[in-house]
Parts: sequence; structure tokens; C-alpha cells
Amino acid sequence: MPRRSDPIYLDNNAGAPLRPCARDMMIEVLNDTGNASSVHAHGRQARSRIEAAREAVAKLCGARSRAVTFVSGGTEANMTALTPVWQDQGAPVYLDKLYKSTVEHPSVLNGGRFAVADQIPVPVDGNGVVQLSELEELVVGREPGLVSVMAANNETGVMQPLAAIGEIAEANGHFFHVDAVQAAGRMPIDMESWKADALTLSAHKFGGPQGIGAVVVRSTARVPSPLLTGGGQENWRRGGTENVAAIAGFGTAATAALEECATADHFAHMKEKLETGLRDVCPGCVIFGETVERLSNTVCFAVPGMLAETALIAFDLEGVSVSSGSACSSGKVSVSHVLTAMGVEDDLARCALRISLGWANGEAEVDRFLEVWCKIVERLNPQARHQAA
Ligand code: PLP
Repeated sequence: MPRRSDPIYLDNNAGAPLRPCARDMMIEVLNDTGNASSVHAHGRQARSRIEAAREAVAKLCGARSRAVTFVSGGTEANMTALTPVWQDQGAPVYLDKLYKSTVEHPSVLNGGRFAVADQIPVPVDGNGVVQLSELEELVVGREPGLVSVMAANNETGVMQPLAAIGEIAEANGHFFHVDAVQAAGRMPIDMESWKADALTLSAHKFGGPQGIGAVVVRSTARVPSPLLTGGGQENWRRGGTENVAAIAGFGTAATAALEECATADHFAHMKEKLETGLRDVCPGCVIFGETVERLSNTVCFAVPGMLAETALIAFDLEGVSVSSGSACSSGKVSVSHVLTAMGVEDDLARCALRISLGWANGEAEVDRFLEVWCKIVERLNPQARHQAA
């Protein structure tokens, strides 16, 4: 078990620690010289680093390497995919509307390059799962548009029925984009069975470096128009000299994450232990999305009356990093739009905390968390120990 004084990190959905193998690779590549677009030996060396990483990232999502375009992260990938202008079989296609679920990350919720008037929210149920009948009602008989639904939610870990959503999109002539930022390395990714035309990835959620991500397409014949134009990098799909070290680190982390994902789900046992431990201390603890399929690294919970901001500070003082509300807005005191979309009352949503496990966590961290949890509840809300569910 970590020593009492050792800080522990349970906020991997905000960003996982860099894997040592990715760090080593990046340091090696940082010593290289040259631009991957140059034809000389130095340039070719940089190019081969990029192509090796492309292969590794493609494998992570069962795609061909040509389908992978490197960009600066999940936000840019979402901005790239969420465009009304695509190229399909060499001809431009204009997508009429963006159908986005109400629990998306802000980089999708903002609608990318679609006009505000062309963005249609798709509701979720009380567990945060897209309501298929409502989606169908919205898209049937409409001009071709783009449906965008995340694979798994960053706050709750709730997974979406992607194959069913992709089926509805395709059957009605729409394109389908999946933000798989939280899914990569934590659940199998299968663009074919999801019928996803484009996928968003971000390296830093599974132990790659920050500031690098990818747009992956199902077919290179159907691609979103570039967000950044300039040189012909990335097959004319994303201009700008490539960040070779970050791309190489991304590829290395992708290989490691895929290996872990292919073996037993080592988070499942830890999640069970966490949830049992939370309830042992506070029987009335609410676990969001508890009854539906969730990532096994994520637990989002609330104890009525125990404000998340207060609990977060108490955890921090004990050297335990967890999160309240949305991953990318830790520290912001506002109610989570995800919980609101799920119909959670503001008073309860203000109590929501998130634990997200990552490659560097083991049972020792879970044990330490539960020890601190017991202490914090005793201090902040002792009556919660006796409140029934
Ligand atoms: N999509 C989801 C689901 C996320 O959780 C995040 C970040 O938390 C992003 C997109 C943005 O990714 P990035 O931080 O690489 O821009």
C-alpha cells in the first residue's frame, strides 16, 4: 500500500500519467533531427517514426494505418470531424445538421464547424444513455447530416449503444462520428460494427503525451474537410509540421494500451471493490449510471448533502487526487451538464465526485482511497454513515 504521505492519483479521465515506454520513445525521438517531409535520410527517419506510430494507433482501433490522421488532441479531432463539408468518393458532400447527444464533451457540444441553428441535441435517459427512439425520430426523413455520440462518457463512464446508433445513422443516410477519447485502451474499439465514419482519439487519456490525438476514418474515401490547411502533411488532411516525438509517444502508448485491453479487465475487480467500499461507509451513496454498461475504470458518485468541492479539498489535503464534475473543468464550480442531462437534481449534482483509474493504479491505491474516504465522511458528514440508500 502507498505510504500515508504518498500522493495517489485517481483522475485518469482528466489525463493519465505518461507511460515510461512512451517517455523513453519520446526522449529518443527528441534527439532526432529533421522534418518528416524532407527527402534526405534525416527526414526519412522522422517519417518512419511517424508511420510506425500510425500503424500502432490504427491497430488500437482496428483500422488501416492510412485511415489515421494525427492532430493536436481530442479537441482538434472533434473540431475536424464536426464539419458540414466532407469529401465522399472524391466529391464534396454537404451535411445538413449535426445531431449530438446532450452528454458530449464540450468540444462536441460546441458543435464544431456547424452553425448553431444546425445543431440538434439528442436526449439521454436517466442513466445517460442515448434514447434510440428519440434519435430515430430526429433523423428519419432528414437531409444527410452527421450524428455524433461518444463511446463512453468522461464523467460517468457510461457507454453508448454505438452499433444501434450507427445502424440508425446509416439506415437514414447520415454520417456517424464517435468521440472515443475515454474508450481507447479501456474497451474494444470496432469502427466497422459501429458503422462509425470517423473516430476521435487523444493520447493522454491512456498514457501517451498530452497535445496529440487522431482522427480515424472508416474509409479514406469518406473524410471530413481539413480544419488546418497549409503544407500537404498528413495526406493533405492536416497541415503543419508533425510533432514527431509526441506522435511516437502516442504510438508506443497505443501498443501498450492495446495489450492491456486485450488481457483481462484488471479494472473490473478494483471498481467492484471501490463501489462496495463506498457503500459500506455510506449506504446512501448514489452511483451514477450504476445499472447500465460503464467503463470499469470510472466511478461517479455522490453522497447527498456532502458537497463535492468540500470533499475534493479534503481528499487533496490527504494527498488523494480525484475530480468533481467534468474532467476538463476541474476546479470550476458549476453543475455538470452531463448529470443535468440525466435529470439529476442540482443539489445532488453538486455532490458528484469522480474516481477514474488508470494504467498506473493497483489495488493499493483503492485501499488507500477507501481509508481516506472513511475518514473524510466521518469528518464532513458523519450522519451519512447511517443513512440508508
Ligand atoms: N472528448 C472527451 C470525451 C474528453 O474526455 C476530452 C478530454 O477530457 C476531450 C474530448 C478533449 O481531448 P483533449 O484534451 O485531447 O483535447
